[in-house]
Amino acid sequence: MPYVYRCRRCRATSPPGPRREAEEYRQQHRDSEHGGLVPDGESIARVAGSTPDPDGRYVSSGGLVALLVVLAVGSLLARLFGH
Ligand SMILES: [Zn+2]
Repeated sequence: MPYVYRCRRCRATSPPGPRREAEEYRQQHRDSEHGGLVPDGESIARVAGSTPDPDGRYVSSGGLVALLVVLAVGSLLARLFGH
């Protein structure tokens, strides 16, 4: 999941890398280009087109399956004890 640091004032973008690396570029850029000040419009962004975290996707579809199981069990219990 690569990140880039962007400074809009300088129209500069760091190479993609881990978030910690993008934060290091940010600090370096602030120090060397802006005298330690925080430039307007800077950001750290996930690189466009990179795949979302597969673990996050697994958790959300796992949660959906769990919800369906709860509903199925609930409907079964309602049918068994509903009369
Ligand atoms: Zn800059």
